[in-house]
This record gives sequence, structure tokens and C-alpha cells, in this order.
Amino acid sequence: MSRKRVAIGGLYQESHSFSPAPATLREFEACILVYGDETFERLAGSNHEVAGALDVLSDYECIPLLYGATSASGMPVRRDDYETLKATYLDHLDKALPLDGVVMTMHGSTVAEHIQDATGDLIEAVRNRVGPDIPITVSLDLHANVTRRMARNADALVGYHTAPHVDQRDTGQRVARVMQHLLSGCLIAQAYCPIPMIVPAENGQTTVGPYAEVMDMGLELETRSDVLSASVFSVQPWMDLTEVGSSVVVITDGDSEVATTEAKRLAVDLWDRREAFEPDLTPYEEAIDSALTDDARPHVFSDSADAPSSGAPGDSPALLSSLLDRGINDPVYLNIVDGNAVERAETVGIGNRGTVTVGASFTDAFYSPVTFEGTVRTLFDGRFTFKGPGFNGVPFDMGKTAVWVTGGIHLVTMERGVLQWDPELYRCVGLEPTDARIVVAKSPAAFRAAYSGFAHKIVNIDAPGVCSPNLREFPWKHVPRPVYPLDEFETPPDFVCYTERSGRA
Ligand SMILES: [Zn+2]
Repeated sequence: MSRKRVAIGGLYQESHSFSPAPATLREFEACILVYGDETFERLAGSNHEVAGALDVLSDYECIPLLYGATSASGMPVRRDDYETLKATYLDHLDKALPLDGVVMTMHGSTVAEHIQDATGDLIEAVRNRVGPDIPITVSLDLHANVTRRMARNADALVGYHTAPHVDQRDTGQRVARVMQHLLSGCLIAQAYCPIPMIVPAENGQTTVGPYAEVMDMGLELETRSDVLSASVFSVQPWMDLTEVGSSVVVITDGDSEVATTEAKRLAVDLWDRREAFEPDLTPYEEAIDSALTDDARPHVFSDSADAPSSGAPGDSPALLSSLLDRGINDPVYLNIVDGNAVERAETVGIGNRGTVTVGASFTDAFYSPVTFEGTVRTLFDGRFTFKGPGFNGVPFDMGKTAVWVTGGIHLVTMERGVLQWDPELYRCVGLEPTDARIVVAKSPAAFRAAYSGFAHKIVNIDAPGVCSPNLREFPWKHVPRPVYPLDEFETPPDFVCYTERSGRA
């Protein structure tokens, strides 16, 4: 008997309604955009959802589709580029037909210029191709904005359990096990429960704090023999869409009532903790002064307002400006996305001094460019591989990169923003973060997995930027109201669950 055929692939991009950082094919190509055989060649064996799916589905014939990801998120994906990615994905799917199942490895917060819910759009397009009876199971980042369209078209939505995200491969295995369950002829019931809240990412960790408490309940639920999956999605908080919010998805082995009851219970548990998500921020000037009076090192600053992983352009010179004012001689490592500053470094040349203007190259709405004189220490092609727990072994490309030095300040300038979860961003240009008095990670939480092992202290700084956790200050237009924390609730919301069964008994 021929083996059952399962196609695997997806799109992973996190959009941001207030970001000036572009999201075009170029951003996918700079991170990862692979088709056909290359999809499995590049990702098998790494800490990635595709690798996890391959681990579990080894007895099936697995067919690679397109996989594309941007390491830095940003604006909605440009219309033509989204349509190109979608058409290529569907083209590979069409060639793979007939199929017994499709595993889609998605982010879940992807917006295209002309489609608010691009994830739901792609899942629906796959559903239309394969028909109502072929199972589609979808892995999602836990910052996914889960929608009714996604829940309606996918048999199963399965999210990461970790923030910082370190369980990509494990999530791929879990979503593939639900596929296995369906392919073996068993039923499932999926309950999706949206929650009218958006929360900043700083306290959205699953290692400690309010989110960890709820995620632990989800993990406890998964130990039940009749529960296949429990996912709690905190949502990417800067999406000004007509359908947006945190959510819970629970999948059981066919019992709709258990799925609905448990999804609602977790949703209430998350809602009840909403105030605990407010982050404790230190004004950045105060954080610098405090680090300069404490000799232990390194002080790791989380500059979340300019985090490329959250959708910021990474071009904030706010910290640099303050550091320059103080004339620091102890090593301080920080970084700014600025292609012109890299070009300027190439002109000046390694070992030479020159004047450079840096920062605010995407937008000057939050801060202004800074000019200083420094020495060009390093020029580098910008390619490096993550060695920490998240995306371990996955290559990243920040474009051409140059290190400028003045006094103790070591400024890494690069052409493109990348995830700042891993100190390899500094090590790849010869800077050892454990030597620094201050090292800056432009990331709200995920950097902790790789940095907390050696950080003397981690400080969430309050600095200007498009990904500021001060959510009430953004110009919201579309998000449905009321929503926490933009509005106060006198009575709790209804927690309506959407539950569907699928599979064949
Ligand atoms: Zn995420």
C-alpha cells in the first residue's frame, strides 16, 4: 500500500500596524525563502516547526512546499509580494496533489496590504484546493492573532508553548501528531475562544509571571489523555485590525464539550491576570546612570520599543545619544539599523576615523539622527547563525555590517533588522557581551533565553519607539472596542467559544 502523502510548508511574518519597517519579498529572501526540496534540506534537524513535523511524520510521504520567514517583522506585507508568495505556495501544493493532509507552519499575525488576515487567507486557499475532507493542521507563534477564518478552515491550530520561543521543533511535532491522529481516522474537536485583550510582551514570558501561570495550566491540561493540544495566544499587541486579540484554542479527541469548557476556563484565567501584564519600565537615562555606578557586568538593556522582532525598524539612536553625552570608556555594545552608516564605514575604512550620522533612517517620528566621530573597527557581511536556545542552528543575515567605536561605545550598524534574541549578533563581529558594562538587546522578552545565563542584571528600559509597551498612547482606529487595556471593563466579557469537530471516526 502506498504511503499517505502530507505536504509541509508555510509563511512566518509578524505584522505591525504602526511600523515603518518594510515587509517585502526582500525581507523574506534576507531571512529564509525556500521552495521544494530545499525546504527540507535547509530546515530538517534544526529547531524549527518543519523539522518537528518531519520527525513525527517519518512513516508518511512528506512533500515540501514553500517556506518563507522574515526575521524582522514590520508593515503589512506588500500586496504584490504577498500574492507572489501565495501563488508560489499554491503552485507547489497543486503539484503535490492528491494529498492526504497539509501541515502549515505559520506565524499567525501576518497582514498583507489588502488582506487583514493573510494567515486565514492562505489557510482558506489551501482548504479550497484540497476540499473539506483533507485535514489541515497549522502551527502558530504564540503571538498569533487567531481569527474565526483561521479556525473555520483549519482542523487544528497549535501554538508555541514558550516565550522566549524555544519550542519551534516541539510545536512542529505537536501539530504533526494531531495530523497523525486525524490520518489514523480519529475525530477531533477544536474550541477557539477569543479574548478582548492585547498585552505588551515584556511580561508575556512563559518562564515566570502571569503568562507562565496560564501556560502551565494549558500544559497540565495537555497531560489529559483526551486533550490533544492546548494553546494560549497572547497576540502581537500593535495590530490595529477589525478582528484582533488574545485567544485560547483547545483540541480534544472529539469531545466538543470538554474542548469548549477548557478553552473558556483558560481564557478566563488569562483575562483575570490582565493587569499583571503591565511592564515595570526604567527610564533609559536612569538605567544608564545606574549601570555606570555598578561595576558588575553586563547590564543587559531590553530596548523593546525598537525591537525588530516586534516590528520596529531597529533605527533608534535614543540610547546612543545619551551614552555619547556621558563620554563612557567602559565597553558598551549597542546596535542600530542604518545602511547609510554602513556605507559611510566602507568609505572611511577599517582602522580610520570618520564622522557618521546614524539613526532615525526609517522615521523621525520618535527620535532624531545622531552625529559622532568614531573609528571603524570591523566590516562584516552580516551572516551569522543563532547558537542560543531559540532558532538554534538557524542562519540569519543582517546585511552588510560595520562596527564604529568611540571611547567605550561600540556601535554595530547593519543594513537590516534581525531578531535580537541571540548574543551572536555581537559575537559575530568580535564583541563579547560578557565583557561589556552595558549590552543592548532590542527585544522585549525572547532575548532572555540566551542572555539571562550571563547577565548581571536585565533592565526593561522605557525608551521612545514604535514598539513601546505603552499601548494606550498609539493612534488606534480599527481595533474593536472595548478592548483591554485601552478600555476598562465594568463586567467581564462573554468568552464566546467557536467549536467544531472534524475527522472521520
Ligand atoms: Zn512570537
